[in-house]
Amino acid sequence: MTTITSKVCIVGDFAVGKTSVVERFVTNQFSDKYLTTVGVKIDTKEIDLPDTDVRHKLVLWDVAGSDRFGDKEFAYLRGAAGLVFVADGTRFGTVDSALQLRGQIDERYGPVPSVMLLNKHDLASEWTVSEERIGELGLVFVDVYRTSAKTGEEVESALLRLASSIVEATLADAP
Ligand code: GDP
Ligand code: MG
Repeated sequence: MTTITSKVCIVGDFAVGKTSVVERFVTNQFSDKYLTTVGVKIDTKEIDLPDTDVRHKLVLWDVAGSDRFGDKEFAYLRGAAGLVFVADGTRFGTVDSALQLRGQIDERYGPVPSVMLLNKHDLASEWTVSEERIGELGLVFVDVYRTSAKTGEEVESALLRLASSIVEATLADAP
């Protein structure tokens, strides 16, 4: 059994659901309690790659909101093999923030496989992000997902897709 370990950072504005998405993915639970993440919270999740004896250990860094992104937060992202951008579909401004942050991270560290999660899709009737905007996001990210940490919709698919892109990128880089 071979184990690949990858650092994955979850980024996006305040209250978009970063901590909830990680909790859904790692423990398959959702809590309505609102606890602000201070600094960074680290969780791990292991995935067995189908049809191989490879185990992929994801070390998930839940980094506090981008409204407070400074040198310290950027330092947390060092060495990330993949990024999860999260925005809140009911607040279109959080999509713009995610794109802006994407630009800043690319500039500092160069691009890495990244997925975009438009979260809170259980509140679809309150969404303020146009289909056109979602189409544009598709050009910038490996994939764009309409997720709900509350119902679990698409959370696992998004994270598994990112994990496989990381493996592909790692294999492509190998000598
Ligand atoms: P973070 O600041 O990005 O880590 O956001 P949190 O995960 O703490 O979530 C912020 C608030 O949004 C909390 O009250 C969550 O319960 C709520 N929330 C998170 N994800 C969802 C979702 O998919 N649907 C709904 N309806 N609420 C969500
Ligand atoms: Mg949080």
